[in-house]
Parts: sequence; C-alpha cells; structure tokens
Amino acid sequence: MHIKEMLDEAERTKAPSFSFEYFPPKTAQGVQNLYDRMERMYDFGPKFIDITWGAGGRIAELTTEMVVQAQTYFGLETCMHLTCTDMGLEKVNDALQKAYKAGCTNILALRGDPPRDQDTWIVTDEGFRYARDLVKHIKETYGNHFDIGVAGYPEGCDDNKDEDLLLDHLKEKVDMGASFIVTQMFYDVDNFLRWVRRVRERGIVIPIIPGIMPIATYASFLRRAKHMNCKVPEEWLAALDPVKNDDGAVREMGRKLVTEMCRKMLDAGLRHLHFYTMNLAQATRMILEELNWMPCADRPRKQPLPWKQSLGLG
Ligand code: FAD
Repeated sequence: MHIKEMLDEAERTKAPSFSFEYFPPKTAQGVQNLYDRMERMYDFGPKFIDITWGAGGRIAELTTEMVVQAQTYFGLETCMHLTCTDMGLEKVNDALQKAYKAGCTNILALRGDPPRDQDTWIVTDEGFRYARDLVKHIKETYGNHFDIGVAGYPEGCDDNKDEDLLLDHLKEKVDMGASFIVTQMFYDVDNFLRWVRRVRERGIVIPIIPGIMPIATYASFLRRAKHMNCKVPEEWLAALDPVKNDDGAVREMGRKLVTEMCRKMLDAGLRHLHFYTMNLAQATRMILEELNWMPCADRPRKQPLPWKQSLGLG
C-alpha cells in the first residue's frame, strides 16, 4: 500500500499512526539481531517502516536485502531510501528493480550524504545531481507503482541553511511527483510548526511526516543532535543534565520530553509520527506507551506476522 494512502486514511479517520526507521547494521550478527528486533517491534503496530540507504557496495546491497526481508517475510509495508551518492543509472535501476520485485511500493528519494571518507558531495552521474532528478526518473520509469517521498529541512540542510532556497527546492521535488515529505530530526516543535506553515504558504499540500529521535542515552542524544545540526531547546538540556550519568533516568526524562513534543504536534493536527529508532526498541516503546499507542487487551494488534498466521500462531 502507498504511504500517501495510509496518511490520507489517518487524516480521514483522525486516527494517529506511526512508523519506524532502521538502518543496515555493519555485521552479519548485527543484521540478525535487527531482524529479531524488527519482528518484536512489528507487534508495536507501525503502519510502515523505512530502511535507510548506505552509499557503497555491501551496505547498499544490504539495504535492498533488508527491504526484501521486511516486505516479503515480515509483510511490513516498507519504504526503501535511495540516494544519488555513488550511483549511476545502472545501479539506480538495479536497486529499484529489486524493490519492485520484493513488492515494495514506497521509495524515499534523496540526494544522499557524502561517503564516509569524503567531506563534500560529488556527483557520480549528471542525471542524478539532486533528489528531484531521482524523483523524476522513478516517475518516468515506474509510473505510479512507487509512492515517492522526499526529505524536508525545518532546521536547514548541511550544505544549505537558506530556508527560502530550500523551500524552492522542496517545491521542485514535489512538482516532479513526490507525494509525501519526511523531515530531518528536530526537538524544537515551535520552529517545526512555523516551517510547516511556510511550506503550506508555498502551495505544497502533500502530507508532512515529522522525524522524531527518541532519547536512549545522554551521550548518543548529544552526539546525534550535534551530527545532525539539530537545535536542542535550553530547557531540554537543563532537564537532562542533572541525570546525564544515569541511563535509566535519562530515558525516563526523554520519555517525558519527547512525548510532550509528540502531543504538541498531534494537537496541531499532525496525524503521523516517524521514529528514528537507531535500531533500538526501548526508547521508542516508552514513548508509544506514554501516548497509549501500544497494543493492549482493549486494543489488540490487528494481525500477527504473515508466517505466524499461516501456521495458526500469534
Ligand atoms: P536535495 O533535495 O537534492 O538537496 C541537496 C542540496 O542541493 C540542498 O542544499 C538543496 O538546497 C540543493 N538543491 C536541490 N535542488 C537544487 C537545484 N535545482 N539547484 C541548486 N541546488 C539545489 N542520507 C543517506 O545517505 N541515506 C539515507 O537513507 C538518508 N535518509 C534520509 C532521510 C531523511 C528523512 C532526511 C531528512 C535525510 C536523509 N539523508 C540520508 C540525508 C540526505 O541525503 C542529506 O541531507 C543530503 O545532503 C540532502 O538530501 P536531499 O534529498 O534533501 O537533497
């Protein structure tokens, strides 16, 4: 099912929904551990999951392998990220074909980060300089088979802090055929809501999905926020600093702070939240519990995993 359809349904029924992002781990054991965790987190009830795209050889292959596993084996609606980094036409088509064969119908089309050993982004194929080129190619090649999402930047992009210019470029991606927007992580909700208004003023009407990073430990929270140039409100630092050496207390405080920001967005009319899980379950689970969104006796999850259904389990 297309993500746009799921989001439209959430809008129609006013029923909030959520999704999870995972990234390809570096080791075979890491991959197995993640599959186990994805299976457990299936029970939390995400509408769909995303698998990020890592530039270069094995990591890129792993993205497509994980998409096949999640879409066909777990039966989870899966959105494959695809970037232009290190990608020529042949590689782009190969990745799309693998996703297509797996029954995946959702792609997040991105320009991509530079590879780890490079500071700046270098074009590999003139046909794929910007994310909009990828959106255009996917539309031209696959028509409406894939629902296409693109990235949005309420706090500015690494190589561009000019909000007006970024909005122009966002509009181009939408005009090329994107039907939903997923944002970078952020903790400043007021700024995000201001940005949403600016997006709408530009005539962009497609759904916007806020990207939310739960807090697992103080060190990882700060590292990630710094890496992503994400503004952390002063009151968050003041609340977390006194408990920074106690991981359990940090998670509890994180539960409170992140849930508050989720509620504020839901109150403002947002229907769908996207969690950057960092391949971990606990911190995301705590927020879903706090929002009262975890399946329980009164609200059982709808269906067990397809392979469990076929064995009469679950
Ligand atoms: P674009 O929209 O193409 O923009 C890239 C830069 O080019 C911007 O500065 C933009 O302003 C500029 N630009 C765009 N169009 C034009 C134009 N017509 N003329 C001049 N300049 C232009 N990275 C990964 O490597 N793998 C992932 O899986 C991944 N997932 C992500 C998921 C989300 C939700 C987000 C927000 C980011 C993700 N990223 C990922 C990071 C992303 O690839 C980088 O932030 C990248 O630098 C920008 O990608 P983009 O798709 O926004 O690019």
